[in-house]
Amino acid sequence: MLASPISPRPFFLRPKSVTWMVFCLSLIVTEIVAWRLLLKERSLDQEEVIQEGLNFQNRLEAVLDYSSTATYTLSFLVQNNLLGDRFDSLCHQILKQNPSIDALQLVQNGVITHICPIEGNEAALGLDISKNPDHVREVAEAIRRNSLYFEGPFHLAQGGRGIVGRLPIIEKGQFWGLSAVVIRLETLFEAVEIPSSGESENFVYQLSKMAGGQRVQVFENNETFDSGLITERMIPKVEWKLQVKHKNPGYIKAAVPFALLGFFFSVALASFAWKVANQPLKLQKLVDEKTADLQELNKVMELKAEELSRINHELNQYAHVISHDLQEPLRMVVNFMELLKRKYDNELDEQAQIYIGHALNGAQGMRELVKELLQYALAGQQQGQIEKVPLRMILDDVTSILHVQIDKTQATISYEELPVVDAPKLAITQVMQNLIGNALKFIKPDVAPVIRIESIERAKEWEIIVSDNGIGIDKEYQQEIFGVFRRLHSKSDYAGTGVGLAIVQKQVQSMGGRIWVESEKGAGSAFHFTIPKSLLI
Ligand code: ADP
Repeated sequence: MLASPISPRPFFLRPKSVTWMVFCLSLIVTEIVAWRLLLKERSLDQEEVIQEGLNFQNRLEAVLDYSSTATYTLSFLVQNNLLGDRFDSLCHQILKQNPSIDALQLVQNGVITHICPIEGNEAALGLDISKNPDHVREVAEAIRRNSLYFEGPFHLAQGGRGIVGRLPIIEKGQFWGLSAVVIRLETLFEAVEIPSSGESENFVYQLSKMAGGQRVQVFENNETFDSGLITERMIPKVEWKLQVKHKNPGYIKAAVPFALLGFFFSVALASFAWKVANQPLKLQKLVDEKTADLQELNKVMELKAEELSRINHELNQYAHVISHDLQEPLRMVVNFMELLKRKYDNELDEQAQIYIGHALNGAQGMRELVKELLQYALAGQQQGQIEKVPLRMILDDVTSILHVQIDKTQATISYEELPVVDAPKLAITQVMQNLIGNALKFIKPDVAPVIRIESIERAKEWEIIVSDNGIGIDKEYQQEIFGVFRRLHSKSDYAGTGVGLAIVQKQVQSMGGRIWVESEKGAGSAFHFTIPKSLLI
């Protein structure tokens, strides 16, 4: 069965669009939150790097300060001629006061003339630094700046690698020489608290300077500092560049799972939205299908009703024609029998007279039957208009029609207040006449019939009860008696054809009512029937 087409919904209400909208919105919101989380975590990591750079700088500047103090003190002693031959003892004093320095030197005319402590530094004593172009260039820079200036790291003459800071000594306006500090790289690493690899758990460090057009690095790593979370600082005093890079920034670790979670959450939300958005569509589809089914069923019912009414009509016509056409030959049989009886009355013997009598009775009975059959065929068909019918008036009509039987049986008919019903008058009259007629017929010998008519009002219908004190009906036959030609007695006991109650049932049902009997054999009967208040025929 085809469902009627579903009316198109606006774009934004279609399940696919709703699902996509929910997915995109949720994804945008969760990814924005993830992005903000990433930025926040990144700025925390950045702050950490900056802080680490500051700490590094502070420790390095402390080393420079010690170097500066030591070289200036030595320079002061030279300038003021206070050194004499006490170089060793004074140097030891200075070295004691200024940790992070491995040795102090005096350089005159390019030669290292003094060095302290002498132990381990013997190889450097007497060294002519003017022979090494790197030293010459760096010394020239120190003189140009006239301040402490470091060279290195380079391989020290006394072994190992280190840096050397030199301060020009000007005595009486003349360049006298240099006071210098030697700091071995191990000492420097210890002082700045960074291993020689320049890598701690979370950071990578580098300390470098340009020398002779080349970058010289202190730490042994080749880390690039052009991307990632980095901080850079210049130490102008010595032209050193200090760089720190975060090795394990936590911001990606924090934000990526959240972003992924947001994605899966959006997928889950969208699938939920898909289910919810499809619900009304499914319901509408179901309703449309059911409506289409009902419409189809209605059409079938209408066709059936039409067919039924056509068949009914044909049946009635058929019954009408049959009963009408049968009446004519029956009438002829009766007429000719009567003619035969009258004309040859004297000539026919007694036996012939009896036969003619039987034939006449038979024909009469048949006429009755045909008449009743015709009535049954017409019952419920030609009832006339629905009108306001006072039952009291119907009762008057019926008692006047049945007055012969009423008088003969000395029947009492009683009733209380009876309603005015909306029904075809002819149908109601026929029903009441049949029921009261039966109550007058099926009576106990020598007992005058007492017939009572009552009514019960209900919300949508009237119930009418016709009860009598007659012979009653056995329980097992109480349904059967409403069938055509169904009788419980022989004609000799009670006259009749067995069509009366069938006609009554047909009339009541065609008004939309029900009929039933409550009875016990020998204890009278009560026939109940209903008439709907809003009767549509
Ligand atoms: P008919 O009256 O021609 O016999 P009905 O169809 O009217 O046919 O009734 C069918 C049968 O129902 C009757 O033959 C009778 O046995 C039983 N019957 C009907 N009305 C009563 C009644 N009031 N009391 C007892 N029996 C009845």
